Formats: sequence, C-alpha cells, structure tokens
Amino acid sequence: MNYQVLARKWRPRNFAALIGQEHVVRALRHALEQNRLHHAYLFTGTRGVGKTTLARILAKCLNCETGITPDPCGRCSACQEIDGGRFVDLLEVDAATNTKVDEMRQLLDTAQYAPTRGRFKVYVIDEVHMLSNSAFNAMLKTLEEPPEHLKFILATTDPQKIPVTVLSRCLQFNLKQMPPAAIAEHLQRLLEAEKIACEPEALPLIARAAAGSMRDALSLLDQAIAHGAGSIAAGNVRDMLGAVDTSYLLRLLEAVAARDGAQLMVIADEMQSRSLSFDAALQDLAGLLLKLAMAHAVPEALEAGLPERDRLLGLARHFDPENVQLCYQIALQGREDLPLAPDEHAGFVMTVLRMLAFRPEGAAPAFADANNSAAAPPLPHPADKNATRAQPFGGDWPDLVRRLQVTGAARELARNSALARHADGVIELVVPKSMGHLAERNYQEKLKAALEQHFGRQIVLKVTPGEAAAATAAAIEAEDREARRADATRAVQGDRFVKDLVDIFDAKVVGSSVRANGDKN
Ligand SMILES: [Zn+2]
Repeated sequence: MNYQVLARKWRPRNFAALIGQEHVVRALRHALEQNRLHHAYLFTGTRGVGKTTLARILAKCLNCETGITPDPCGRCSACQEIDGGRFVDLLEVDAATNTKVDEMRQLLDTAQYAPTRGRFKVYVIDEVHMLSNSAFNAMLKTLEEPPEHLKFILATTDPQKIPVTVLSRCLQFNLKQMPPAAIAEHLQRLLEAEKIACEPEALPLIARAAAGSMRDALSLLDQAIAHGAGSIAAGNVRDMLGAVDTSYLLRLLEAVAARDGAQLMVIADEMQSRSLSFDAALQDLAGLLLKLAMAHAVPEALEAGLPERDRLLGLARHFDPENVQLCYQIALQGREDLPLAPDEHAGFVMTVLRMLAFRPEGAAPAFADANNSAAAPPLPHPADKNATRAQPFGGDWPDLVRRLQVTGAARELARNSALARHADGVIELVVPKSMGHLAERNYQEKLKAALEQHFGRQIVLKVTPGEAAAATAAAIEAEDREARRADATRAVQGDRFVKDLVDIFDAKVVGSSVRANGDKN
C-alpha cells in the first residue's frame, strides 16, 4: 500500500464528493446552472477544509468540454488534465512563496492572453493574504478590468489581511470546519470501499486529531494504515497520535473519587513515562466528566455501545453532580493553564490535585476516606433498575439513619426526625417544632440525595415540623445512653466495695456522675 494513496485517491473530484460544505456547493451550483459567473471568487476557511479542492472542481465546471456545468464529466481531456494537475490554463500559485511584486506582475501579464486549451484561464492563488501590498495593487488593476476569459479563485485562511479593495471585488464563500463525527463517518465509508479492517474506536481518535480538516484526517488515516501494516487498531492509532488510553483517565477519576492523591501521582507518572500528551489527557478528562454528568442527568443518553459505559456508571455513583461540574471546570482551566506551567507534567498533576483539594461546599465525601476506599461498597445508581430491589426498607428509621451516608445538618435532620409514614418510594418525616430550622430545603435535599443513593432509586421526601409520634434516632441514642448509664449505676451500687463505702460513710452514689463505658457524656 502506497503511503499517500488514500489522501490522493479520495480527494473529491466533484461537488457531490465534497463533505460538509453544502452551503457553498448549493450557491456555486446555482450560479453555474444559471450561467451567472463572477470573475473572482474568494474561498476562506481554516487549513485543510477543501479550499483548493473546491477551486479545482470549479475550474473543471468552467472548462469541461461538455459545457459550463455544475457536474463536470470527469472524462474529457480538460477534466482529466485538471484532475491530473497538468491543465495549461489552470495556474495554481501559492502566495506564501510568491509574494514578490515582480512575480505577480509576470503572472498578470500572461493573464491578458487568451486560454490555450480551455474556455477560461483560471488563476488559483492560495494563501492570498500573504501577497505584499504592491502585489495586491498589481492584482487589483486586473480585477478592476478583468479580461472575459479570466477567472480568479483566491483562497485564504486569513481574510482579514486582504485589502478591502480586493475583497469587494470577490464573491466570498466561507468553508466550514468539518465536525469530527462527519469526518469519522466519511473515513468509515472510505475504509469499507477500500476493504481495510479497522477497530471502531480508532476513527473517532483520528477524526478528532484532524481538528476539522479532512485533508489531515486522510493523511492521518494513511499514516495509521502504514503504522498498522494494512489494518487499523485503536491502540496503534493512540500510540501514533500520542492519544491517551481512556483507562488511564478512568483510573484517574477513580482516584479522585477515592481522594487518593498518591494514586493520582502514580498514574500521572505512568502517563509521562509513556510520553502521553497531557493536553490531550485534560481534554479527554473533560470529555469523560461530561459523560459522568450525563450518567447522572440523562443516563439513557450514554450510548449503549460505549466501551467504558459500565465503568462510567459505576464511577458516577461516587461523584455527586456538583462535584462533576467542578472537576469539569478544573479540567478546562487546567488545560488553559498548561502552557504557563513549569512543564506539562507539573501542570497536569496540579490540575488533578486541584480536583482533590476543592469540592462543592457541603458535599458529602464520595468515599469515607482514602484508606477505606477499597472497602467502600458499590452504591446503587438511580439509573440501575436492579438496585431498587437491593435495599428494602422495613420502616426502622433510626436504624436506617445510622447506616445512611450523610453528614452535617442533613444528618441532624435525619437523626432528630421520626418516621410518620412510608410507602413505595415515599418517606414522610416529622421533625420536632423546636428543631424546625433543620427542615430547611437545602438540608432536605441533601438527605433526599443520601436516601436515593442508599436505596438506589428516586425517593419522595416530605418533612413537616410537628409532634413526633415515633422514635427518632436521636431519642433512641439518648435512651440507649440513659439505659447504659442506669446499668452502670446499678452495677456500681451492686459492687460490694462501693456498698461498704456507702454504709460506712453514709454516702450516696450520684447517678449522673456515673459514666457507662464508651459513653462520652
Ligand atoms: Zn469534462
């Protein structure tokens, strides 16, 4: 397989084959059909979006021996010579290398002569913004009084550098960058036609690296084929692009969830030893965090075929939605700061450590702490239907409160409330009026979230201030304490030595001073 074969072979040769520029194609087709031709066209757009390809197609449309047409035949000698880059009346000039006014004058002098073979002489000037001012002035004279047989097609990545006097004489078309999905789709079709095997994860990697340029995508594809000796494996493409294996980033997020800074460092060092791009890593990390946010908010939007889907859903249980948002922001900011960091590795490490250092105010710890992370039970996810059966609720509220992962005021709300009623997915609590401040919506929502995490399903939580009819966890704890104290008091009073003391000194045991073992009050 020849190294550059695909990029050349699949270069679009007509409007139909041009991907993603429908708006430009429609306008040009229309003009050609109506024979309303302009004498100067300006194609703008970032590199590799197809400006010169479009210029060549337009040259064929103008010179095809079947007549001026939006559908050149591709078979006549004019079409074939244009495709082959040897049509004498098509002049392609790269202004980046021909900025001298003398060369421009020379070129424009020949413009006065009639075309040798074709209907029109077509001058394609690429990177036209690179022309010097005097070269622009020379061109302007021709543009003001263009010979009938001459067509200019100017192309540029930077239209702002073109003098307004020139701009105003051109019909301007802005070519769009191609979205990665459209590029991947095109590559897929092309590989099928070429009967080249390819792992599905490989094409999105190439499409993204191409950054909107089909030309880059095709040369990367060629490179990947050469790299993979005729077939395309995602691993090879990743190596080739310095792209980051998602498993590194999933491990990284797991370490963030576990608040395990040491593990974060280990992963970052591994990535560095494999020369992975930390910029790409932060970009991908933000992409993964987006997927985590989706797992929380719209789990059905996660593609079923996503290879890391299960792991993502598992990870989502250990992040609360606010924390995902925060980490996302940190990843974006970290990427922006990367060029300012002492080096990329340092910038990356600082960014992921920042994910550990900051968390949304009042957020419950994702895991109990780093040392216990391995023992943390997998929490059922609201989206996981199997989990609804995992945690039945028998109505023992105080017992549930003890097992609930909730902290702060929300915990106090839980401890001091009594269960008034519970039914399928509904929990109604009564909080004593004296503690009505605990019924604040903020705390209710945190408690609700903890309940949902515990039960793995949506919960409707109602909290009303009033007289508690049933026991609260706080009351039970107080009772327990009292009972243990009473036991201790009895034990003390039953103790022979204490009894003797009481008898001899006419002393008495002060109940409230007796402390049960382990009782701090
Ligand atoms: Zn033709």
